[in-house]
Amino acid sequence: MSAVKVLDNVKQMPAYIPGKSGSGENALKLSSNENPFDPLPEVVSAARRALEEVNRYPQMYADDLCQALGERYDLGTDSVVVGNGSVALLNHALTAVAGAGDLVVEPWRSFEAYPIVIGTTQAKIINVPLTESGAEHDLRGMLEAIQRGGERVKAVMLCSPNNPTGPALGEGAVREFLDQVPPQVVVILDEAYIEFVTSPEAVDGLKLLADYPNLMVSRTFSKAYQLAGLRVGWIAGVDPELIGAIRKVSTPFGVNVAAAAAAREALRHEAEVSRQVTSIVDERERVLATLRGNGWKIPDAQGNFYWIGGADLVSPVTSALAAAQITARPFPEGVRITVGLPADNNRVLAALTAL
Ligand code: PMP
Repeated sequence: MSAVKVLDNVKQMPAYIPGKSGSGENALKLSSNENPFDPLPEVVSAARRALEEVNRYPQMYADDLCQALGERYDLGTDSVVVGNGSVALLNHALTAVAGAGDLVVEPWRSFEAYPIVIGTTQAKIINVPLTESGAEHDLRGMLEAIQRGGERVKAVMLCSPNNPTGPALGEGAVREFLDQVPPQVVVILDEAYIEFVTSPEAVDGLKLLADYPNLMVSRTFSKAYQLAGLRVGWIAGVDPELIGAIRKVSTPFGVNVAAAAAAREALRHEAEVSRQVTSIVDERERVLATLRGNGWKIPDAQGNFYWIGGADLVSPVTSALAAAQITARPFPEGVRITVGLPADNNRVLAALTAL
């Protein structure tokens, strides 16, 4: 041990626990909500070609990718910041607005990186438990927490669809929420799984940006776009000062050449990505129908994963899956299982039916 003192807020932060891979010949990893299809060859080739320039720094802010995203989603290039995974951008956005003595409101249980990205800002976290069903954001409770916190509240996290429980937020509910959040509070809407959403009422945050300058929407290439291994995410908003601040606090050259090239190429193959998404969504619905038919209570699943809630089920479900060499993601309140390829999902169904 050295005499160095690690900050208390860092000591108190939970460590990020990555989804495990399991071992054995038939090990099946359904613990990180990845896209199970093989990467598109054109995207891999684009990343490989980019490696020929690795002696040079990439573009400082991945400008070409920002431009491609701006065009694709009808946003100004200056409304988009690209980074080393969307988690990095959540951290940058929070760092830009919150510090020691401030408060940040988050739904809980939600994505386990939130307490870490909030914790590094030294702001205090106000957790608002999910609704009684244990699956959805309690937006009214979150508003009350914001009101109680007063001027110290600097930001609030929303996650749609919510990882790990599955439901998406409705557009009407989010608008009503945004109408009541004080305009100086940044609302960060994390839409990492939006491509898998099929509910017609669900929010599409990008469509709300023009009406709410305090809204930031984050998305990722890690899920539907298959690039988890390359780490590319983005965040969008219309407040130029906030966008400028996020760029300022971000790691210089945060998106490497291979990641930027692969992400741009992936955007050119949306038809293929969308076919994969459709097939994952079809599988999700098939698995849910079967499990619910067998009496399992599973909340609405709008991402590429589903949630078996109940502290008492965590151990038996995890063990039954482990016996079939399947690794899912256990939490104290339930188990999250990623939708895989049809044969993978059949293995899950068999394991859970045996239970
Ligand atoms: N947001 C949510 C809700 C997630 O579940 C994840 C990945 N598990 C991320 C963000 C992280 O995305 P990225 O790989 O872009 O950092």
